[in-house]
This record gives sequence, C-alpha cells and structure tokens, in this order.
Amino acid sequence: MKIVALIGNPNTGKTSLFNQLTTSYAYVGNWSGVTVEKKVGKLKRQHGELIDLPGLYTLNPLTEDEAVVSNFLLYDHYSTILNIVDGSQLQRNLHLTIQLLELGKPLMIGLNMTDVAENYGTRIHSNLLERKLNVLVTPIIARTGKGCKEIEEKIRHLNGTVHQPFSLDYGPIIEAAIEKLEKNISDNSKNIRWLALQFFEGNSLVANYLESLISKEELDKLYYSVEKELRAVEGVFLHQHIYRIRNNYITSLLQDVEEKSETKIKTLTEHIDAIVAHRLWGIPIFLLTMFIVFMLTFDWLGFPLSDLLDTFLSGPFTTWVISFLGFIQATPFIEALVVDGIIAGVGGVLVFLPQIFIMYIFISFLEDSGYMARVALVMDRLMEKIGLNGKAFIPMIIGFGCNVPGVMAARTVEQPRERLLTIILMPLMSCSARLPVYALFAAAFFAKNQALVVFSLYLLGITLALILAKIFSSTLLKNAASIFVIELPPYRLPHWETLARSVWDKGKGFLKKAGTIIFAGSVIIWLLTYMGPSGLDVEMDQSFLATIGENLAPIFEPLGFGTWQAGAALLTGFMAKEVVVSTMNIIYYAPDVDTLQALMTTHYTALSAYSFMAFILLYTPCMATVATIKKETGSTKWTLISIIYSLVLAYVISFSIYQIGSLLGY
Ligand code: GDP
Ligand code: MG
Repeated sequence: MKIVALIGNPNTGKTSLFNQLTTSYAYVGNWSGVTVEKKVGKLKRQHGELIDLPGLYTLNPLTEDEAVVSNFLLYDHYSTILNIVDGSQLQRNLHLTIQLLELGKPLMIGLNMTDVAENYGTRIHSNLLERKLNVLVTPIIARTGKGCKEIEEKIRHLNGTVHQPFSLDYGPIIEAAIEKLEKNISDNSKNIRWLALQFFEGNSLVANYLESLISKEELDKLYYSVEKELRAVEGVFLHQHIYRIRNNYITSLLQDVEEKSETKIKTLTEHIDAIVAHRLWGIPIFLLTMFIVFMLTFDWLGFPLSDLLDTFLSGPFTTWVISFLGFIQATPFIEALVVDGIIAGVGGVLVFLPQIFIMYIFISFLEDSGYMARVALVMDRLMEKIGLNGKAFIPMIIGFGCNVPGVMAARTVEQPRERLLTIILMPLMSCSARLPVYALFAAAFFAKNQALVVFSLYLLGITLALILAKIFSSTLLKNAASIFVIELPPYRLPHWETLARSVWDKGKGFLKKAGTIIFAGSVIIWLLTYMGPSGLDVEMDQSFLATIGENLAPIFEPLGFGTWQAGAALLTGFMAKEVVVSTMNIIYYAPDVDTLQALMTTHYTALSAYSFMAFILLYTPCMATVATIKKETGSTKWTLISIIYSLVLAYVISFSIYQIGSLLGY
C-alpha cells in the first residue's frame, strides 16, 4: 500500500491538504503547534494512506511533537515524503526541504500558498525548481483544493525511485568527517551521509540511533574534533556552519527560481498588527473581542435560538414521544424513564446546542484568521512575568473548546516544567461543557447581564490560572526561563469550508457526548431518583439521590447552596460537567427551561447562583480530562495534585464570593 507522509514547516497548510485528500478531518488553525501527533487518513480516490505530521523547521527536535517527525523518518515505513513548502516563505522553508532531500528517500514537493506569494508580488518558476532540485514540484492552494488533483495523480504514478542523491558540498572538514563515518558504519538501511549531517547538527535522536552502530566515545571524539577544527578555521560552530552552507545554496537557488516585483507596500497585515498586537492596547482589544463573542453567544444570537429549540423539544417533541410510547403500549416505568429521565436529562443539555455552536463559529473564525496568534504574542509579555510563556497560551485557547485537546496541545511547550504547569492549569480554562450550566443559571438569575456574567466567569478562570502559575512556578516548579518565538501568520479571511468543518468537528464531540455519557448519566440519575431506601417509585425527597445529596449538603452550606439537589448535581457533574444540567432538569422535574428556571429561584439567590457557577468552573475537572492529564503527565502525583488543588480552590473562591457578597448585602 502507498503511504505518503506530509512533512513541512508549521502553518504551511499540511493539515488543510490532508483534509482535502483524505476521508478524515483534522484540526486546522492559523498558528503553529496545532498538529501535535501523527494522524493517518485514507486517501479518497485511490488505495493508500496519507499521514499528517506536526510542523517543524529542522529535523533536529526541540519539543516532543517535533520528535514525532524525526522518529517517523528513522523508524517508520513510507513510500514517499510529500514536503509542503510555503511559497511565500521559500527561503526559510527550503532548509527543511534540503534536509529531507539529503535523506535520499522518495520525495515530492507541494508548493503551497501560491496565492499568498502572488499577493506579495512573487512569481515562482516551479518547473525550474523541479529541475534544479530534481524532484516533482506541484503548485497548490491547499485551502481551496487547487492543484490537489495533480498531487493525487502524482501519488498514483509513484514508482519509488530516487534518481540522483541530492548532496551539497559542506567543505573539506565536514566532508572528511562524513567519509570517516561512512567507512566505520555498515548499515545499508540508512543513508549514512544524512545520519552524519544530522548528527553534526545536534539531532539527539539521530545520535541515539548512531550509538547503536558505533561507540559513543568514538562519536563524541569525532564531533568535538570536527567542531574544534571548524572553530579554528571558520570561526563558527558546527551547526552554524551547516546552516550557512544551506542558506547560501538556497539564496542562489531562489535568485533563479523566484521573480519578485519591486513594489513592496505596507501590507494590510502590518496595518492591523500595529493596532491589535500593540503593547498597551493588545490585551484590552482581546478582552473586548471576547466580550463581543459572548454577547453574540448569549444575548444577540444564541439565546433566542436556544429558546426556540427548547419550545420545540418540550412541546411538540415530547408530545410525539408520549403518544408514540402510548402507541407501543409502553409501561408507565418506561414512559417515566424516557420522559422524565432521558428527555429531561439529554434534552435539557441539547437545548444549549445553538449557543455552543455559535461560540464555536466565532472562536474558529478568530483562530483561522490568525488573530489568536497575536493574542499569544500579546499575552506572552504578561505571562513571562509569571513563569509561563506565550506558547502556553495556545493550548489554553484550545482548552476553551474542550480541556482534553488542550492538555494534549501542551506538548508544543518545550520546557518540561512549563508544560506540566500548562497541563495542570488547563482545567481553569472554562470549556464549553460548562457553558450549558452558565446559560441555565445566567438566564434565570441575571437575565439582563447574561454575557457579562459569563464573561466574568471566564475571566475568573484565566486570572486564577495566572495567579496560580506564579505561585507554582516560584515554589513547586522553579524554571529556567525560555524564550518565546511565535510565528505571526498573515491574516487570512477564513475559508467557509474550513470554518464549517472546524465548527462541526468541535460540535460533533458535544453531540457524541450527549448520546453517550450524558445519556447514560441521565438514566442513572433518574434511576437514583426513582428508587429509594423504602422501595421503588418513591417521592423525590426520599430517593437514593436525595440521600446522597443530603450527606454532601452541609459541606456546601457556607457557599450558599447547601441543598441536596446541589450536592447531587456536583457529584454527578464529575462524569461531564453538562451532566449538572441534566441532573437539575431531572430533579426539578420541569417541563421546559422557563419553568425550571422559575423553580430554581426558590432554591438559589443571585449570589448563591453565582457562587455555584464559580464552583462548577473550578472544581475537579471532568473524568475525561483527569484521564488525559494522567496519560500526558504520566504521573499519579500530579494528577492527584490537579484534582485536589482545584477542589480546594473552588471551595475557597465560592466561599469568599458568598460570604463577602452576603456581608455586602447582596
Ligand atoms: P499546518 O500547520 O501545516 O497543518 O497548516 P494548516 O493546514 O493548519 O493551515 C494553516 C493556515 O493556512 C490555515 O489558516 C489555512 O486555512 C491556511 N492555508 C492553508 N493552505 C493555504 C493556501 O494555499 N492559501 C492560503 N491563503 N491559506 C492557506
Ligand atoms: Mg497541522
């Protein structure tokens, strides 16, 4: 079977192409560090696989996601590499291309972003590039699918031969050293020249590989003698020398291949960045942007839509289901389970689907336009002061959708300690599962200021994350400072198809959850309300759920919500935070959201409702997140720490909100 591996710099459109050519879908974002694992997809129109890999500038890995690529090249099997290069940044992109060419495996080039290059006034003679590098070069626009047919054709006609090995002259010192290694190693499966060059550049994975063929002492000796000689003759380090040789080659290559028109006007991107990436206004502009997103989600667009959906689910839909159940002569038990358990529990969460989708649309829009990369840059200045770096902000933004991929995305953070810190703070990022809870309570208690109240909860999470980062990084996780370099991609008007797929991909997760864990949770919760110590079909107050909740209630008394209902909801919320809403719906037994909200006002005040929402935000992350934290940190200790600190934090904050609020007379 044909296996094609996508390799290229970050943010060059690899995943976009992957989505074009395969039946799978992967996350696309206009910044680097979005793809952190290899992802395999089946080719659409022929038998074969395409593998999407994380982006990287050189094969010498700095971070774990970059190591994925070096390991892939060293140990996995593939038919050809499909190197994606950004046509508007050839000078930098070709460094990786050269390293791949030196590898001597079959390779083709996808020359992407040809539209961007043209906008900058650059014409690329791809035929000439093809001849000079002696590999197939296909100009494409991965975003719209232009040129993808040609790529597919070329994959179809692959024959796997590498014509002439590509080789640059690295000067007598290095060439002599390569020859020496070639003589001492007998491994026919790998290209020794490539291994040697990678080793000289400092590729630690290649060094490990070489150590299985030749002794470490010998390798070290060779490395230091070459470096010493180079320092004496050229005055540069080994890796600098190699870089320089390649750079000179690329410069002269591009003189022939690229044709630039002279007029360089200040681009739109530069104009926009002067404002949104500004030292002072950057953060206020970000806050304002997010506030507008919340207004759209809650007040302007989302809420009316959710209201419509609720009218439908609690009205005609429930009536249909009841008459259907009557038609098939279901028992009263089944009818109660379906109507009071499943429809109430699952439906109660689904009502908020429009709000969640609308939020996703705007967040995806901001991501794909390139704005979020600016936010990371702006945040870096703040985050530097507290022991994190701006790179950690990107996983956190992903965490707003769902904490699980957020925790995974922390792999892009280089420093192990910063990465750990990013992971354990991730649950403070308010994921969309908390949204239904906020939507329910905010509409009931803060009808006029819904967006503002929800916004304040998001900010509470971020602020606490920043404070805790400072505390952790100056105590438990002392760190060597690292520098943050983010690639600022040019702004792009998001392509509607990418946008739709990205929203769908995020929303799908939510629907899947509704069909599985929320469904199961609703059934269990309903059964717990149906059964009690005294038998079946008991009064709600006499049920098992009430008994369990009652035992928890006193603990929450000082926080303003010492009812068994709240205790029960918090307990079940560990499954998934949306289940809190399901539980409320089942317990309060309400036919629709409006009635439920009216009922809730008898159990909560505005103050205790806010305290409850803050608790939901902060307390123990959901099961899936805990499992991911365990997997990604590989440490039981840190998993426990993240569970315990969040419980303590939730308690302290809700306690303060309620007590101080009460003192102030709310
Ligand atoms: P990856 O990091 O290499 O996987 O890149 P992605 O596929 O995530 O794409 C990065 C960004 O570039 C996204 O915003 C894409 O929509 C955009 N993009 C991808 N290909 C093209 C293209 O050919 N032209 C333009 N203008 N944008 C593109
Ligand atoms: Mg990608």
